[in-house]
Amino acid sequence: MKCDPTLYRAAPPSLAVKPRLIRHLFLPPLVIALMIGLGFAGFWISEHYGIRSLSENGQRQLELHARAVESEISKYTYLPSLLELESSVSTLLADPTPEHRQTVNDYLEGLNRRSRSRAIYVMDTTGRVMATSNWRDVDSYLGEDLSFRAYFQNAVRGQPGRFYGIGSTNGEPGYYLAHGLEEHGKIIGVAVVKVRLEALEERWQRARLEAFVSDENGIIILSSDPARRLKSVIPLSDETKEKLARSLQYYWFPLNELQPLARERLAEGEEKLTFPANSEVESDEEDISYLSQTRPLSDTPWNFTLLTPLQDLRREAINQGILVAVAFALVAFLLIAWNERRKVIATRLAAREALQEANSQLERRITERTTDLRASNERLKGQIRERRQAEETLRRAQDELVQAGKLAAIGQMSTSIAHELNQPLAALRTLSGNTVRFLERGQLDVASTNLKTINELIDRMGRITASLRSFARRGDDKGQACLGKAVDAALQLLGGRAESVHLQVHREFTDVQVQIDQTRLEQILVNLIGNALDAMQAQPLPELWLEGEEYDGKYRLRVRDNGHGIDIEARKHLFEPFFTTKPGEQGLGLGLTLSASLAAATGGHLGVEHPASGGTTFVLSLPLVSSTPAESI
Ligand code: ADP
Repeated sequence: MKCDPTLYRAAPPSLAVKPRLIRHLFLPPLVIALMIGLGFAGFWISEHYGIRSLSENGQRQLELHARAVESEISKYTYLPSLLELESSVSTLLADPTPEHRQTVNDYLEGLNRRSRSRAIYVMDTTGRVMATSNWRDVDSYLGEDLSFRAYFQNAVRGQPGRFYGIGSTNGEPGYYLAHGLEEHGKIIGVAVVKVRLEALEERWQRARLEAFVSDENGIIILSSDPARRLKSVIPLSDETKEKLARSLQYYWFPLNELQPLARERLAEGEEKLTFPANSEVESDEEDISYLSQTRPLSDTPWNFTLLTPLQDLRREAINQGILVAVAFALVAFLLIAWNERRKVIATRLAAREALQEANSQLERRITERTTDLRASNERLKGQIRERRQAEETLRRAQDELVQAGKLAAIGQMSTSIAHELNQPLAALRTLSGNTVRFLERGQLDVASTNLKTINELIDRMGRITASLRSFARRGDDKGQACLGKAVDAALQLLGGRAESVHLQVHREFTDVQVQIDQTRLEQILVNLIGNALDAMQAQPLPELWLEGEEYDGKYRLRVRDNGHGIDIEARKHLFEPFFTTKPGEQGLGLGLTLSASLAAATGGHLGVEHPASGGTTFVLSLPLVSSTPAESI
């Protein structure tokens, strides 16, 4: 079953290709852009939540280590105030004799050793060191004027002096705790304890902790990383720098700013700092980021800062970002593949539906056409039945006509037959009378001759009546006829008329067997020869040519006369029933019609020709017995 190709014609190429082209052009960059975007988002979210988690953890660490620093510092806060209780100190301040000084020096030396502080010393109200624990050392503070020190200035005013500075004599950093020594409500001197806090730094380093402590000026005074020590964490103006230099708090250190590459504030006391890679420690590494958490240290103007490296977190965030990007790429790939497959399936389904639709349309059409064909087949069958009936009716009518024609011919012939029979009868009467007389006279030979003639006459009469009987008998279409015999019979039947006009017959045919009933052939020939005789009535030398020839399995007999011929108007109606030019009752107009129909009934034909030389030729074609009979029409 073929399908109509127009039913599922593809979309025009221009329309089908354009969206696909756009998709192919824009989809890959879009997927890549989304991949990068989502990768970054994954990285950012991972880093954000990682920092938050680190921050929570860092807060605990910050608290822990800040408290450790606080306890380390507060450990010494009581020490200077103890000297208030020592009478030798107040005695020295009241009466600074060498003996008193030595007593206090010894006392301070012992106290310093026990407290494990760096140095303990006592100043008078002018800021001069009166006694010190390191009186034995070369760089002893003894006699030094330290009135410029802020801690002294605070303490002499009765305020607690807290100070981190670098010693002006030996350049050694230390934490100074000063206390104004009171006697009777009056400050008579200042006691100072210098403490070294390097132990904290060492502890941080051992714990691999990155931390620093910055003082009230924003200068890093303690740091796990020595490189950061004495760097400022806030920008310092030139004025401040000069002031600090003059105070010699940090000796002559340049106080450079600790400059991070990037600084991002995350929350109160929380920052993200990025420092350039330390070439000494982290060679070939990228910049280092830290989570910086700062907390003020109680009882001091200082801040403790904990630095948590973010490299691991960053690495993890990068991995997460890559993972997200790869996952997205995978999902995108799967989605694209699924979409393509869906489209293929949809296209197949559409094609299948179109095919089914085309099939069903085709089947509908076939059904409709089959119904039409059945209907027309039925109509044709009906028509065939009608035609057969009509044919049957026609055949019956034809047979009736043949019969009628025969009767007419018989009627027509009856006159000549009567004439034919009357002549021999009259002759018989005469001959029989004569024979009786010759027998009476004894002339037996003459009587015998007469009797022979009588016999011949009786035979002739018998033949005439036999021909008449066979002519009148109804025959069927089947059968075989001998042409020569039929011609003889017809001439014999018309013998009287032929003889009366002295007809000259030219027999130029072969005695063949043709497929027609003998009687019917004779009847046709009687009609044709009879008509020829009628046409040649006025002809002084009537001649009849009977010429035969074989062609194409048939035998063609030409019956030609030299009669008056047929005029042009009459030629059109020759084979019409009851057409006759003969006057009165001479013609019925059935002879040619019947003859033609008899010839046609056997598969033959009867035609007419009008020779230029005059006369008429009737051409009778009949199938030969030896050949395959042609189908009747
Ligand atoms: P009918 O002989 O009774 O007239 P036919 O059918 O035999 O009927 O002939 C029809 C007519 O055809 C005749 O009346 C005659 O005019 C014409 N006809 C037939 N045969 C000949 C012939 N051989 N020559 C001239 N006219 C003929």
